[in-house]
Amino acid sequence: MVATNAGGVNVLRYGDMRAQVVGVEAVLADGTVLSHMGGLAKDNTGYHLAGLFTGSEGTLAVVTAVRLRLHPLPTEVVTAMLALPSASAAVAAAAQLRRELDSLHALEAVFDGAMALVSRHLGSPPPVGAELLRECPAAGGDAAGGDAAGGESGPVWLLAEAAGRVDPADDLVAALARLDVGAAVPDHHVAVALDPTRRRRLWAFREQMTEAVNAAGTPHKLDVTLAPDRLAEFVANVPAVVRSADAGATTVLFGHLGDGNVHVNVLGAGADGGP
Ligand SMILES: Cc1cc2nc3c(=O)[nH]c(=O)nc-3n(C[C@H](O)[C@H](O)[C@H](O)COP(=O)(O)OP(=O)(O)OC[C@H]3O[C@@H](n4cnc5c(N)ncnc54)[C@H](O)[C@@H]3O)c2cc1C
Repeated sequence: MVATNAGGVNVLRYGDMRAQVVGVEAVLADGTVLSHMGGLAKDNTGYHLAGLFTGSEGTLAVVTAVRLRLHPLPTEVVTAMLALPSASAAVAAAAQLRRELDSLHALEAVFDGAMALVSRHLGSPPPVGAELLRECPAAGGDAAGGDAAGGESGPVWLLAEAAGRVDPADDLVAALARLDVGAAVPDHHVAVALDPTRRRRLWAFREQMTEAVNAAGTPHKLDVTLAPDRLAEFVANVPAVVRSADAGATTVLFGHLGDGNVHVNVLGAGADGGP
């Protein structure tokens, strides 16, 4: 995780791995051991070695020890799923939730055809917005789920989670009610889960995505992070761009909308370097 500066679903709250590494010990190619494990919150003694080695993917040194920042575990967690009409609506909702909800803890997106794929895999439609589902060819359908329609993407399912030491449910529900994505989000497109069983059920549609993709074929995987003002355009256009390069390819998009990170999975394409 340190060498790849890995993230996860809570980067928007806590930052990436680099933000957690406050001390590092590493061995250089000539055997020199560098150790900077003090872990001071303010450290102006020179280069930020922890930041340098985090994400260096083994190109600079072998990391042999790290000192990590710890965060108190939130005791109260509430999760919501929203069905939104488009990626631009999802980006607008994400921006508003980030501005208005201090306890926001995760903000994940399952785009259009990806939801059809994971729903098929789970044997269950999404709890909200099932009528918006468009088939995904990789899930056995024959429509162009996931492709742009008139310059805008298809529907998007957003998972928004709030967490803290104090129950954040009221704050989350109030923030969802205030959402303005060109219009209010209708009640029947919002599900809020308070208990662990219902929360897990909502999360399954995001957490089972990778398994659903792998069950449908061998994906080409790309990890793309964009600034918010480029995200909706990217999501709307990339499936058609991929299809123009390989008519048999299907693009499945999901990821960490809160930090602009989209997992791009291309199924049914030729081998690398092939047609
Ligand atoms: C650029 C990148 C970003 C990634 N981001 C995420 C993410 O955000 N979330 C996620 O879940 N997964 C992510 N992954 C997948 C990631 O590979 C795994 O999460 C995890 O880091 C793999 O651990 P591993 O021990 O199997 O490492 P390996 O697959 O063995 O190695 C991964 C890389 O780290 C280097 N490396 C391994 N050990 C050391 C060491 N001790 N010192 C120095 N370098 C070392 C290797 O040379 C290699 O470049 C990412 C992968 C890459 C390449």
